[in-house]
Amino acid sequence: MKKSAKIRLEYESPEHRRLPHVVKFSGGRSSGLLLMALLEQGRLDAERGDVVVFNNTTAEHPATYEFVRRCTEECEVKYGIPFLWTEYATYEDCSNGIWRRQVSYRLAKPTPYNRASNPFGYRFSGEVFEEMISQQGFLPSRHSRSCTSLLKLGVTVDFLSEWFAAKGETLRLGHHYPDSKLDDDDLHRAHRAAGGKFERDVFLKRKEYVRSRSLFRPAQRYCDYSHIGSAPMMAARGDARSPWDFKPMRGESAVEFVSLIGLRADEPRRVARVKERNELDRDSSERRSTGLCDGEMICTPLADSGIGKEEVKAFWEKRDFDLRLPSDANLSNCVYCFMKGTNTLQKIIANRRNIDDGLPEDIRSIDRTPSDINWWVDIEEKYKRVVDKRDSGRGRSSPKQVAIGFWGTETLSDKPTEQPAEKISIIDYRSLRARSLSHASEEVTEGYEAMPCDCTE
Ligand code: SF4
Repeated sequence: MKKSAKIRLEYESPEHRRLPHVVKFSGGRSSGLLLMALLEQGRLDAERGDVVVFNNTTAEHPATYEFVRRCTEECEVKYGIPFLWTEYATYEDCSNGIWRRQVSYRLAKPTPYNRASNPFGYRFSGEVFEEMISQQGFLPSRHSRSCTSLLKLGVTVDFLSEWFAAKGETLRLGHHYPDSKLDDDDLHRAHRAAGGKFERDVFLKRKEYVRSRSLFRPAQRYCDYSHIGSAPMMAARGDARSPWDFKPMRGESAVEFVSLIGLRADEPRRVARVKERNELDRDSSERRSTGLCDGEMICTPLADSGIGKEEVKAFWEKRDFDLRLPSDANLSNCVYCFMKGTNTLQKIIANRRNIDDGLPEDIRSIDRTPSDINWWVDIEEKYKRVVDKRDSGRGRSSPKQVAIGFWGTETLSDKPTEQPAEKISIIDYRSLRARSLSHASEEVTEGYEAMPCDCTE
């Protein structure tokens, strides 16, 4: 076994050493190195309640899924530390007399989903991403990354709330009726009452996908989704275990825990920003707006140990497995994430076939899934909002309309008549694809810069 570089684990207080540790695993090489170093230096302890969590957006590259599978196997089989895959999931229930779909998460097995042979495996065709869009009714964008907060931050909080209750399984959620209890008129009325603007037919069309998902979340035994499961933590807590199915993650009695993330030394601004969050008052709205739990203490061991991009690359070059994607291809996280900026995405689109040619067949990009630009074009077309522009700037109502997609707002010319509206300023996945394929060597000069997506924080 190769030994990893020594990393320092700096706690803000010696007391923190005794708290459960949560490794937030993003699927990239940095969080992979962090995990391997923690394991090899014996820093994780299943009895303390430690766990590794990977939030699957179902929009990662197949090679990333292969890498996460390998890390899961090492972590569980060699070191006995539970590594759980989680996915955003909705279910139907009644609250305050109104039937609606509620947001939660489910566990997924670290093997690919197959309807017939592996129905509880992880999804990889954008199912969860679309479920989130259909549930909220509009697309996430560069200005409002609801995908980060719902698919990652929210899922982690919900998962930990159940995990720290130290039970053998998660709770079943949702009603027990065989059919949906949702009513079209009630749903649309509730949408209008909440300030929603969609006409009935448009609204219901957007809700179709989420309403086609499971009516309930089944109870899931941790040991069916992990070789280790929650047994070591349950045994260690013995009679001291909580009688409740969920532990509070907010408020005075919020669970205290240490979270470990793979930010590197060459990302000083992100590291400083994350560490500032530790200083925020535990029940302040500012702290909660960052997605941080009230009892959470963040540690960045790679950054604290001076480990940067080059060290990460060198580390994986010496291992018996690695993420089999070129390190400069920028394919980690959701493959065509709008936060990567137009120039990066243009290169990914143009180089897709070359990158695939260098990969074994079973981890190449897959058509009509999020590792193919066409999936993003289709989803944007399906859920883009077209609304009247409220104000032309001189107090008059505007004849123009705006379309709101992944990239924000684009202004359309006159309201569509028989002809589709001509776009004035264009940045959407469709135009990016067209531009990339026809001008593969040129940069998109009027495009968007890359911005940190903060999904790994
Ligand atoms: S990687 Fe991008 S698209 Fe995926 S969840 Fe994060 S911000 Fe959203």
